[in-house]
Amino acid sequence: MTAAESPRPGPQLNADTPITYIKGVGPKRAEALEEEGIRCLRDLLYHFPRHYLDRSTITAISGCHAGLETTIVAKVLSQQLVRTRRRSYYQILVGDQSGQMTCVWFNGIRYIQNAFHNGDVVAFSGKVEFFNGYQIVHPDYDKLESEEWDTLHTARIIPLYPSTASLKRVGLDSRGFRRLLKPLVGHIQSFLPEILPSSLRDTFQLLPLHEALRSIHFPDGTEVLQQAVRRLKFEELFFLQVVMAVRRNGIRSVPKSLRYRGTGNLLKEIYKKLPFDLTTAQKRVIKEIWEDMKSDHAMNRLLQGDVGSGKTIVALLSAAIAVSNGYQVAFMAPTEILAEQHYRSLHKFTDQLRIRIELLLGGQRKKQREEILQRTRSGDIDLLVGTHALIQEAVEFKQLAYAIIDEQHRFGVLQRGQLMAKGLNPDILVMTATPIPRTMSMTLYGDMDVSVIDELPKRKARIHTRLVNEDKLATVYQYIQKRVQAGDQAYIVYPLIEESQKMDLNAAIQGYEYLQKHVFPTLQLGLLHGSLKTAEKDAVMQAFSNGTIQILVSTTVVEVGVDNPNATVVVIENAERFGLTQLHQLRGRIGRGQKRSVCVLVERKRSETSHRRLQTILATTNGFEISEQDLKLRGPGEFYGTRQHGFPRMKIADLINDNKMMAVARREAFQLLKEDPHLRRQEALPIRHHLQKYYADYNDYINIL
Ligand code: ADP
Ligand code: MG
Repeated sequence: MTAAESPRPGPQLNADTPITYIKGVGPKRAEALEEEGIRCLRDLLYHFPRHYLDRSTITAISGCHAGLETTIVAKVLSQQLVRTRRRSYYQILVGDQSGQMTCVWFNGIRYIQNAFHNGDVVAFSGKVEFFNGYQIVHPDYDKLESEEWDTLHTARIIPLYPSTASLKRVGLDSRGFRRLLKPLVGHIQSFLPEILPSSLRDTFQLLPLHEALRSIHFPDGTEVLQQAVRRLKFEELFFLQVVMAVRRNGIRSVPKSLRYRGTGNLLKEIYKKLPFDLTTAQKRVIKEIWEDMKSDHAMNRLLQGDVGSGKTIVALLSAAIAVSNGYQVAFMAPTEILAEQHYRSLHKFTDQLRIRIELLLGGQRKKQREEILQRTRSGDIDLLVGTHALIQEAVEFKQLAYAIIDEQHRFGVLQRGQLMAKGLNPDILVMTATPIPRTMSMTLYGDMDVSVIDELPKRKARIHTRLVNEDKLATVYQYIQKRVQAGDQAYIVYPLIEESQKMDLNAAIQGYEYLQKHVFPTLQLGLLHGSLKTAEKDAVMQAFSNGTIQILVSTTVVEVGVDNPNATVVVIENAERFGLTQLHQLRGRIGRGQKRSVCVLVERKRSETSHRRLQTILATTNGFEISEQDLKLRGPGEFYGTRQHGFPRMKIADLINDNKMMAVARREAFQLLKEDPHLRRQEALPIRHHLQKYYADYNDYINIL
C-alpha cells in the first residue's frame, strides 16, 4: 500500500454512508455533489472517469506541430492579460522538460484569470496552432499533482473525471475527485459487497466488484482497465435486464380471467375470404399470438414489422379468435385518422361475419357516443376501434380479452397497471412499423415478448427514390401531373415539428395554396394536418381514398399507416429536416399496390451531415438498416425522443456499441429469473437486495419479488 492509500477510513463506512461522512466532503461539497446525484459512498465510487491520461496520450511540447489534436502536460510558468486595440485575451506560458508554448483564452477571461497559480501542473488538451510560436486556444484543462506528473513518465494512468461548474467551484475538478477517491479505493471490499453471483463471474471471467472499481479509478495498466470497464458494463446491463425479467414475470404472474376454448371459426372464415395468402412470417406470428392467448398468463407482446408487411391482417385474425370465444377486443391507433382507417379496412371483413364493430372518436355527437359506450358495457360490441384514449378513459367493457395497440412506442407497465386497476388483464399486442434496432428493443421493450414479421408480401411494387434540390421541382411537378392524369394519386409532405409548429403549419398551408392555384390548377388537391377538426380530417381522408382528391398535401400526420394503394408518388419537402425512420415511414405510403412508385426527397438546405443521412435512404429500403443508421447518427437519446419515455440512463454501458454484451446479459438475467423467479436462492440474495435498493424507482413490479 502506498502512502496515498492510507489513512484508512474507519470500518464503519458502507455503501450507504452519506457523502458528508467522507473525509474531504463538507456541506458545500455535499450540496454540489447532490446536484449530480452523488449522495452516498456508493454513488461516489460509481462516478466514473470520463477519460484517462497516460504516456501514450500525451505529447511533449517539442513534439507539437500545427494541426495536432493532443494533450500536453506542463507547468504554468507565467500568465498575463494582453490588451490589444481589437480585443483582449488571457495568455499563459507553460513548459515541460522539452520546451515551452502558450495557452490562450479570448472568452471567459474573468474566470480563467483566477484558475491557475504559477507552478501548477496541468494537462491541456486541444488543437495546436502556430501563431508567434505554438499555442492552444481555449484548451480543456485538468490540474494534476506534481507527483502525478512524475509518475506519468512511468506506466501510470491518471483518471480524468467529469465535473460541472458548481463542482469546480467547490474544488471538485478532476484533481479534486482523485483526491477524494484515492484513499477510498483500497478498501472497497470492506464496504461494498459483491453483487454478481460467482458463477456468472467465473463464466464470463469478470473481475470482482472491488477490483473493478479500484481499477476503473486508478488502473495499473490498460489491460486491467479494460477488464474493469467490461465488468462494470456487464453489471449495468445485467441489472437492466434483471429488471426487465422481473417485470415480465410480474405481468405473467397475474392470471388472466378469461380463458379460450379454441380458435373458433371466424378465423377460418376471414382467412378464406382473403384475396391473398398469408406470408410464412404472418402465419408464424399468428401462431405465436395464439400460444399466448391460450396460456394462463396475459400476453404482453410486441409485433414488429416493416411498413407494408401486413400487421393489420394479423391483428384482425387474432382478434377474430377472441370474438369467436365471445369476448371483446379493443383496437387502438395513435391518431383519429388512423383509427378511422383501421375501422374502414376492418369493416370490409367484419360486415359479412357477424362481428359487431364500432368506432369511438372524440368528436362524435354525445348521443352517438353514449350509445357506443353503453353497447360496449353491455357486450353488444365485439370490436371497438379508437385512439389510445379508449383504455385510458372511462370506457367500460363487459369482457375485454384483447387489446391491440398500433404504433405506440411505449405502452408499458404503467398503462397495464391502469387496466388492472379497472379489473382488466387483457392480452396486449403492441404493433410497430418503426423498425427498432435490437439494442433498443431489448431496453425499451425488454419486458415484452417479441414477434417479427420479417418478410414482405411478394406483391410489393418497386419503389424508386430520388434526391433533388429545388431547381428540379418543375420537372417533379410535371411528372406528378402525368401520373395523376394516368389515374394515380400523390402525396406532397411538409415537415412539422413541435419546436416550430406554427411556422411549419403555415408553410404547409401556403404550399398547398400555391400548388393548387399555380401548379396544378386543373387537379383536385386536399390539405391534411393535425389541427383540423376530426370531421374535416375524415372528409379529406375519405376523399383521398375514393380518388376525389388526387394530390394530398399534408404534414407528417400521414406518416404512419395511411394505406392508399393507388398512390404512387410521394414528394417530401425539406427532406433534410426529417429523421431517417420518418422518411422511411413516409416512403412506405407508396408502393402499396402493383404499380411502380417514386419517392422524391427535396433537399432545400444542404449540409454535409444531412446530405450523408439522406444517402442512407437512397441506398436501402430495409427498415432495420435505416433505423440502425438513425440510431448511430442521432444517438439513443434523440431516437424516438426516448428521453421522455423513461429510457434508462446508462453510466458506463453504451446502448449502441455494447449490443452483444447486452444480449448475453439478457440471456443470463432471464435464465436466472426463470430458475429462481423470486430471487430467493442464497446466491441471488445480493441481486434482490440491490434491485430493491437501487431500481425501485422504475420498477413497478419489484414488490412482487
Ligand atoms: P402494415 O400495417 O404492416 O404496414 P398493412 O397491414 O397495412 O401493413 O398491409 C399493407 C397492405 O398489404 C394492405 O393493403 C394489405 O391488405 C396487404 N397485405 C397484407 N398481407 C398480405 C399478403 N400476405 N399478401 C399480399 N398482400 C398483403
Ligand atoms: Mg399498419
